[in-house]
Amino acid sequence: MYYISTRDNYRKVSAAEAIKLGMVPMGGLFVPEQIPTMNTQLMDMVRFTYGQLAQEILGYFLTGYSREEIEECIYRSYHPEIFHAPEIVPIHKLEDGSFIMELWHGPTAAFKDIALQIMPHFLSKAIKKIQAKRETVILVATSGDTGKAALEGFKNVEGIKIIVFYPYGGVSRVQELQMTTTEGSNTYVASLKGNFDDCQNAVKEVFSDPEFNNLLKDKGYELSSANSINWGRLAPQIVYYFWAYLNLLKKKEIKENEKINFCIPTGNFGNILAGYYAYLMGLPVKRFICASNENKVLTDFINTGIYDREREFKKTNSPSMDILISSNLERFLFEITGHGGDKIKGWFEELQSKGVFQVDSSTRDKITGIMEGDWASQEETLETIKEVYNKHNYLLDTHTAVGVKVYQKYRLKDPETVTVIGSTANPYKFNASVLEALKGKEALVGKDEFVLLEELKEITGQEIHAGLKNLDEKKVIHKLSGEVEDVKKITKDILGI
Ligand SMILES: *Cc1c(COP(=O)(O)O)cnc(C)c1O
Repeated sequence: MYYISTRDNYRKVSAAEAIKLGMVPMGGLFVPEQIPTMNTQLMDMVRFTYGQLAQEILGYFLTGYSREEIEECIYRSYHPEIFHAPEIVPIHKLEDGSFIMELWHGPTAAFKDIALQIMPHFLSKAIKKIQAKRETVILVATSGDTGKAALEGFKNVEGIKIIVFYPYGGVSRVQELQMTTTEGSNTYVASLKGNFDDCQNAVKEVFSDPEFNNLLKDKGYELSSANSINWGRLAPQIVYYFWAYLNLLKKKEIKENEKINFCIPTGNFGNILAGYYAYLMGLPVKRFICASNENKVLTDFINTGIYDREREFKKTNSPSMDILISSNLERFLFEITGHGGDKIKGWFEELQSKGVFQVDSSTRDKITGIMEGDWASQEETLETIKEVYNKHNYLLDTHTAVGVKVYQKYRLKDPETVTVIGSTANPYKFNASVLEALKGKEALVGKDEFVLLEELKEITGQEIHAGLKNLDEKKVIHKLSGEVEDVKKITKDILGI
């Protein structure tokens, strides 16, 4: 299978090239030329382990990788020493008809580990396949979670350096310390004075600056991205949609071919998009419910057909979803318009130049045919954490709580369909907000996040996730900081060129 550009502006590339390039050099994202349909019946996969299922699904997308190579990548990532749950992604029954898909058992306690533990292995194999002569430099812009997950995934991977940029003051203290204490000979971290979108735009601009890229090439370096626009990030996420479905089938919660809903707390649109690819491959899905926080640009888009990023950026208690430009939406629109490369190019160029675009009514109908969009306020988020804890003795983080709240609203019009809600972070990762939800704002006064972690542990009796323990005792290794405009300079300084 080959990969093509969403903007019809590049040649076909192999899976290895798509993963190595990260994004299309002249703008656009790589997508599969055609969607594979599953050869194996769902019923025949019910007994698969997570690793076996990953092998089956990734095999369709990583053509050019041998069976053994894919197996090795899976073995090195979905391993009990890395994921603190034997099932990798446990499915927790919240109540009749609704289930929580726990995507946060990896090393950094958030869902991005699922892709970022395996993607560096895909990339390191891709580099060998393409026989790249230069050293690969991964640039990442992060709103908090991706950064640490990428640093962990790439740490000490040979032939690759990784540089992570995060918004100064825009991530939690735990997130910041997770990043700045990362060991490894090839890891670099810098904060930039701007919000996440500023950071992401600055990094995107570096990728599309021919002069800068030529300079790097002369010095023996080549850029690549590990952001959620890299196909190597998307493909592993398709696996857990099948996993969740098979799990419900195995437990006889659903019948064969019964359609279910997925409700996903969404920011950059990567997670939910992977679900949509699973659906295109034949997974029986009724609706995808796209859950946003107060930065509800996607809710408005789904409900009006107008994508408008020209609005106030809000810092919320679900910071990993504080995003106004959802990059992976481009892939969704490409698929839903039946590979409308010219349309896509027009819309996303408009987004770039005017900050807004509107899709035609037939595209809009297709979107609402499969997807719902709704949002939850910060207060609703906190109320939901408390309510679910009191009712079910189950602790949600703020992002997952957005998903649960949006599902509760949706359920009023569709109470019958079994629904899986994506849980994207361990509650201890966003401990201040979670404790505020349980005990009120006064409970936070004068306490740092590490005291709060302990307090949350006392209340709930749940063990603190291994990736969050003792962070405040670790040595801060990375202290670089600069303006948004300094991204190129910081990169050059790090590479010594
Ligand atoms: C990244 C992230 C999200 C958003 O996922 P997208 O794929 O960007 O839509 C939601 N919750 C958490 C905790 C995250 O880290």
